[in-house]
Amino acid sequence: MAQASAQRVEKNEAGEVAIQLLGVNKWYGEFHVLRDINLSVDRGERIVICGPSGSGKSTLIRCINRLEEHQSGQIIVDGNELTNDLKRIDEVRREVGMVFQHFNLFPHLTVLENCTLAPIWVRKMSKADAEAAAMKYLTRVKIPEQANKYPGQLSGGQQQRVAIARSLCMNPKIMLFDEPTSALDPEMIKEVLEVMVDLAQSGMTMICVTHEMGFARQVANRVIFMDQGQIIEQNSPVEFFNNPKSERTKLFLSQIL
Ligand code: ADP
Ligand code: MG
Repeated sequence: MAQASAQRVEKNEAGEVAIQLLGVNKWYGEFHVLRDINLSVDRGERIVICGPSGSGKSTLIRCINRLEEHQSGQIIVDGNELTNDLKRIDEVRREVGMVFQHFNLFPHLTVLENCTLAPIWVRKMSKADAEAAAMKYLTRVKIPEQANKYPGQLSGGQQQRVAIARSLCMNPKIMLFDEPTSALDPEMIKEVLEVMVDLAQSGMTMICVTHEMGFARQVANRVIFMDQGQIIEQNSPVEFFNNPKSERTKLFLSQIL
Protein backbone atom coordinates (compact mmCIF):
# COMPACT_ATOMS: atom_id res chain seq x y z
CA MET A 1 0.00 0.00 0.00
CA ALA A 2 2.74 2.42 1.05
CA GLN A 3 4.54 1.69 -2.19
CA ALA A 4 1.45 2.38 -4.27
CA SER A 5 0.88 5.74 -2.66
CA ALA A 6 4.55 6.71 -3.00
CA GLN A 7 4.34 5.93 -6.70
CA ARG A 8 1.23 7.99 -7.03
CA VAL A 9 2.88 11.00 -5.41
CA GLU A 10 5.90 10.63 -7.65
CA LYS A 11 3.76 10.40 -10.75
CA ASN A 12 1.72 13.34 -9.65
CA GLU A 13 4.77 15.52 -9.12
CA ALA A 14 6.32 14.57 -12.42
CA GLY A 15 3.03 14.99 -14.21
CA GLU A 16 1.83 18.30 -12.85
CA VAL A 17 4.73 20.72 -12.78
CA ALA A 18 5.43 21.92 -16.31
CA ILE A 19 8.06 24.57 -15.63
CA GLN A 20 10.11 25.34 -12.57
CA LEU A 21 12.59 28.16 -12.02
CA LEU A 22 14.59 28.08 -8.81
CA GLY A 23 16.72 31.06 -7.81
CA VAL A 24 17.45 31.99 -11.42
CA ASN A 25 19.88 34.81 -12.13
CA LYS A 26 21.09 36.12 -15.43
CA TRP A 27 23.47 38.86 -16.47
CA TYR A 28 24.11 40.49 -19.82
CA GLY A 29 27.75 41.36 -19.21
CA GLU A 30 27.64 43.50 -16.07
CA PHE A 31 23.90 44.05 -16.27
CA HIS A 32 21.90 41.92 -13.83
CA VAL A 33 18.79 41.29 -15.91
CA LEU A 34 17.07 38.47 -13.94
CA ARG A 35 17.29 38.57 -10.15
CA ASP A 36 16.56 35.49 -8.14
CA ILE A 37 13.50 34.37 -10.08
CA ASN A 38 11.39 31.62 -8.48
CA LEU A 39 8.45 30.42 -10.49
CA SER A 40 6.57 27.16 -10.69
CA VAL A 41 4.03 26.60 -13.45
CA ASP A 42 1.68 23.63 -13.32
CA ARG A 43 0.46 21.83 -16.40
CA GLY A 44 -2.56 23.61 -17.84
CA GLU A 45 -1.80 26.93 -16.16
CA ARG A 46 -2.23 30.13 -18.15
CA ILE A 47 0.16 32.77 -16.93
CA VAL A 48 0.28 36.37 -18.06
CA ILE A 49 3.48 38.32 -17.42
CA CYS A 50 3.38 42.10 -17.55
CA GLY A 51 5.70 44.89 -16.51
CA PRO A 52 7.51 47.93 -17.84
CA SER A 53 9.69 47.77 -20.93
CA GLY A 54 13.16 46.52 -20.03
CA SER A 55 12.03 44.65 -16.90
CA GLY A 56 13.30 41.30 -18.22
CA LYS A 57 10.06 39.68 -19.44
CA SER A 58 11.43 38.58 -22.82
CA THR A 59 14.67 37.41 -21.25
CA LEU A 60 12.75 35.31 -18.74
CA ILE A 61 10.66 33.46 -21.29
CA ARG A 62 13.61 33.11 -23.68
CA CYS A 63 15.51 31.35 -20.88
CA ILE A 64 12.71 28.77 -20.69
CA ASN A 65 13.59 27.38 -24.11
CA ARG A 66 17.25 28.26 -23.83
CA LEU A 67 17.27 31.01 -26.43
CA GLU A 68 19.14 32.72 -23.59
CA GLU A 69 21.37 31.09 -20.96
CA HIS A 70 21.01 31.75 -17.25
CA GLN A 71 24.11 31.88 -15.07
CA SER A 72 22.81 30.58 -11.74
CA GLY A 73 19.83 28.73 -10.37
CA GLN A 74 17.85 25.98 -12.04
CA ILE A 75 15.33 25.90 -14.87
CA ILE A 76 13.47 22.62 -15.25
CA VAL A 77 11.03 22.17 -18.11
CA ASP A 78 8.89 19.04 -18.12
CA GLY A 79 11.46 17.26 -16.00
CA ASN A 80 14.47 18.34 -18.07
CA GLU A 81 16.93 20.67 -16.41
CA LEU A 82 18.39 23.20 -18.83
CA THR A 83 22.17 23.05 -18.81
CA ASN A 84 24.69 22.90 -21.65
CA ASP A 85 23.47 19.39 -22.44
CA LEU A 86 22.34 19.83 -26.05
CA LYS A 87 20.21 16.71 -26.02
CA ARG A 88 18.11 18.11 -23.17
CA ILE A 89 17.87 21.48 -24.87
CA ASP A 90 16.56 19.73 -27.98
CA GLU A 91 14.04 17.81 -25.91
CA VAL A 92 12.81 20.98 -24.27
CA ARG A 93 12.56 22.86 -27.56
CA ARG A 94 10.56 20.00 -29.01
CA GLU A 95 7.96 20.49 -26.28
CA VAL A 96 7.92 24.25 -26.09
CA GLY A 97 6.47 26.41 -28.85
CA MET A 98 7.29 30.09 -29.02
CA VAL A 99 5.51 32.96 -30.73
CA PHE A 100 7.30 36.29 -31.11
CA GLN A 101 6.21 39.88 -31.52
CA HIS A 102 7.48 40.01 -35.11
CA PHE A 103 6.14 36.61 -36.26
CA ASN A 104 9.56 35.39 -37.54
CA LEU A 105 8.07 33.49 -40.49
CA PHE A 106 10.34 32.45 -43.35
CA PRO A 107 9.50 35.01 -46.08
CA HIS A 108 10.61 32.81 -48.99
CA LEU A 109 8.39 29.87 -47.95
CA THR A 110 4.63 29.63 -48.35
CA VAL A 111 2.37 29.50 -45.31
CA LEU A 112 2.06 25.73 -45.73
CA GLU A 113 5.83 25.29 -46.12
CA ASN A 114 6.42 27.41 -43.01
CA CYS A 115 4.16 25.02 -41.14
CA THR A 116 5.60 21.76 -42.49
CA LEU A 117 9.33 22.56 -42.46
CA ALA A 118 10.09 21.56 -38.87
CA PRO A 119 7.68 18.60 -38.74
CA ILE A 120 9.34 17.15 -41.88
CA TRP A 121 12.98 17.89 -40.97
CA VAL A 122 12.91 17.68 -37.18
CA ARG A 123 10.06 15.27 -36.52
CA LYS A 124 10.75 13.25 -39.70
CA MET A 125 7.08 13.27 -40.66
CA SER A 126 6.10 12.42 -44.20
CA LYS A 127 5.23 15.42 -46.37
CA ALA A 128 1.64 14.24 -46.70
CA ASP A 129 1.17 13.82 -42.95
CA ALA A 130 2.85 17.16 -42.22
CA GLU A 131 0.63 18.93 -44.74
CA ALA A 132 -2.50 17.32 -43.34
CA ALA A 133 -1.54 18.42 -39.83
CA ALA A 134 -0.68 21.91 -41.05
CA MET A 135 -4.07 22.27 -42.73
CA LYS A 136 -5.75 21.16 -39.52
CA TYR A 137 -4.00 23.91 -37.54
CA LEU A 138 -4.44 26.54 -40.25
CA THR A 139 -8.15 25.74 -40.10
CA ARG A 140 -8.05 26.06 -36.33
CA VAL A 141 -6.56 29.58 -36.62
CA LYS A 142 -9.13 30.29 -39.35
CA ILE A 143 -6.87 30.83 -42.38
CA PRO A 144 -6.81 27.55 -44.33
CA GLU A 145 -7.42 29.50 -47.54
CA GLN A 146 -4.06 31.29 -47.16
CA ALA A 147 -2.00 28.09 -47.23
CA ASN A 148 -0.32 28.70 -50.57
CA LYS A 149 0.42 32.39 -50.11
CA TYR A 150 3.72 33.89 -48.91
CA PRO A 151 3.89 35.70 -45.56
CA GLY A 152 4.37 39.06 -47.28
CA GLN A 153 0.96 38.67 -48.93
CA LEU A 154 -0.82 38.43 -45.55
CA SER A 155 -1.87 40.98 -42.97
CA GLY A 156 0.00 41.14 -39.67
CA GLY A 157 -2.83 39.41 -37.85
CA GLN A 158 -2.88 36.61 -40.42
CA GLN A 159 0.92 36.23 -40.21
CA GLN A 160 0.75 35.94 -36.45
CA ARG A 161 -1.95 33.28 -36.73
CA VAL A 162 0.33 31.38 -39.14
CA ALA A 163 3.11 31.65 -36.55
CA ILE A 164 0.80 30.14 -33.93
CA ALA A 165 -0.30 27.36 -36.31
CA ARG A 166 3.34 26.68 -37.18
CA SER A 167 4.15 26.21 -33.48
CA LEU A 168 1.14 23.95 -32.96
CA CYS A 169 2.29 21.71 -35.84
CA MET A 170 5.13 20.57 -33.57
CA ASN A 171 2.55 19.42 -31.04
CA PRO A 172 4.04 21.37 -28.11
CA LYS A 173 3.08 20.79 -24.49
CA ILE A 174 3.83 24.38 -23.56
CA MET A 175 3.40 27.62 -25.52
CA LEU A 176 5.33 30.81 -24.82
CA PHE A 177 4.09 34.10 -26.27
CA ASP A 178 6.22 37.25 -26.28
CA GLU A 179 3.97 40.27 -26.88
CA PRO A 180 2.25 38.54 -29.81
CA THR A 181 -0.12 41.42 -30.52
CA SER A 182 2.02 44.46 -29.83
CA ALA A 183 3.16 44.87 -33.45
CA LEU A 184 -0.40 44.61 -34.78
CA ASP A 185 -2.94 47.22 -35.80
CA PRO A 186 -5.85 47.38 -33.36
CA GLU A 187 -8.31 45.67 -35.69
CA MET A 188 -6.04 42.64 -35.95
CA ILE A 189 -5.34 42.21 -32.27
CA LYS A 190 -8.73 40.64 -31.63
CA GLU A 191 -8.35 37.88 -34.21
CA VAL A 192 -5.02 36.82 -32.69
CA LEU A 193 -6.35 36.99 -29.13
CA GLU A 194 -9.32 34.83 -30.16
CA VAL A 195 -6.93 32.12 -31.28
CA MET A 196 -5.02 32.39 -28.00
CA VAL A 197 -8.23 32.19 -25.98
CA ASP A 198 -9.20 29.06 -27.92
CA LEU A 199 -5.79 27.56 -27.15
CA ALA A 200 -6.11 28.42 -23.47
CA GLN A 201 -9.53 26.79 -23.33
CA SER A 202 -8.11 23.64 -24.90
CA GLY A 203 -5.93 23.19 -21.79
CA MET A 204 -2.57 24.27 -23.21
CA THR A 205 0.04 25.35 -20.66
CA MET A 206 0.76 28.95 -21.64
CA ILE A 207 3.00 31.79 -20.55
CA CYS A 208 2.09 35.01 -22.30
CA VAL A 209 3.97 38.26 -22.03
CA THR A 210 1.27 40.76 -22.93
CA HIS A 211 -0.26 44.02 -21.88
CA GLU A 212 -3.69 42.93 -23.16
CA MET A 213 -5.35 43.08 -19.79
CA GLY A 214 -8.74 42.00 -21.15
CA PHE A 215 -7.07 38.79 -22.27
CA ALA A 216 -5.42 38.43 -18.86
CA ARG A 217 -8.77 38.78 -17.10
CA GLN A 218 -10.44 36.35 -19.47
CA VAL A 219 -7.97 33.47 -19.55
CA ALA A 220 -5.10 33.85 -17.09
CA ASN A 221 -5.25 31.95 -13.84
CA ARG A 222 -2.27 33.98 -12.62
CA VAL A 223 -0.88 37.39 -13.50
CA ILE A 224 2.76 38.15 -12.75
CA PHE A 225 4.19 41.64 -12.54
CA MET A 226 7.92 42.08 -13.20
CA ASP A 227 10.08 45.13 -12.64
CA GLN A 228 13.87 45.52 -12.83
CA GLY A 229 14.50 41.81 -13.28
CA GLN A 230 12.35 40.67 -10.36
CA ILE A 231 8.93 39.18 -9.88
CA ILE A 232 7.35 41.88 -7.75
CA GLU A 233 3.87 40.47 -7.36
CA GLN A 234 1.65 37.66 -8.60
CA ASN A 235 -1.98 36.91 -8.08
CA SER A 236 -5.23 35.80 -9.66
CA PRO A 237 -6.42 38.36 -12.24
CA VAL A 238 -9.26 39.55 -10.02
CA GLU A 239 -6.96 40.20 -7.06
CA PHE A 240 -4.16 41.53 -9.23
CA PHE A 241 -6.30 44.16 -10.93
CA ASN A 242 -8.67 45.02 -8.08
CA ASN A 243 -6.24 44.89 -5.23
CA PRO A 244 -2.62 45.37 -6.34
CA LYS A 245 -0.28 45.27 -3.38
CA SER A 246 2.96 46.93 -4.40
CA GLU A 247 3.29 50.62 -5.26
CA ARG A 248 5.17 49.70 -8.42
CA THR A 249 2.29 47.49 -9.58
CA LYS A 250 -0.22 50.26 -8.85
CA LEU A 251 1.84 52.77 -10.80
CA PHE A 252 2.20 50.37 -13.74
CA LEU A 253 -1.53 49.59 -13.81
CA SER A 254 -2.42 53.28 -13.63
CA GLN A 255 -0.32 53.82 -16.76
CA ILE A 256 -1.75 51.02 -18.87
CA LEU A 257 -5.40 50.67 -17.82
P1 ADP B 1 11.36 43.34 -21.61
O1 ADP B 1 11.00 42.21 -22.49
O2 ADP B 1 10.69 43.32 -20.27
O3 ADP B 1 11.17 44.67 -22.29
P2 ADP B 1 14.07 42.40 -21.98
O4 ADP B 1 14.14 41.07 -21.36
O5 ADP B 1 13.98 42.47 -23.46
O6 ADP B 1 12.91 43.24 -21.27
O7 ADP B 1 15.35 43.25 -21.56
C1 ADP B 1 15.70 43.49 -20.22
C2 ADP B 1 16.93 44.35 -20.17
O8 ADP B 1 18.02 43.63 -20.71
C3 ADP B 1 16.83 45.64 -20.98
O9 ADP B 1 17.48 46.64 -20.25
C4 ADP B 1 17.55 45.32 -22.25
O10 ADP B 1 18.14 46.48 -22.79
C5 ADP B 1 18.62 44.36 -21.78
N1 ADP B 1 18.94 43.38 -22.83
C6 ADP B 1 18.09 42.60 -23.49
N2 ADP B 1 18.72 41.78 -24.35
C7 ADP B 1 20.04 42.07 -24.23
C8 ADP B 1 21.24 41.57 -24.83
N3 ADP B 1 21.19 40.59 -25.76
N4 ADP B 1 22.41 42.11 -24.45
C9 ADP B 1 22.47 43.09 -23.52
N5 ADP B 1 21.38 43.60 -22.90
C10 ADP B 1 20.19 43.11 -23.24
MG1 MG C 1 10.15 42.15 -24.36
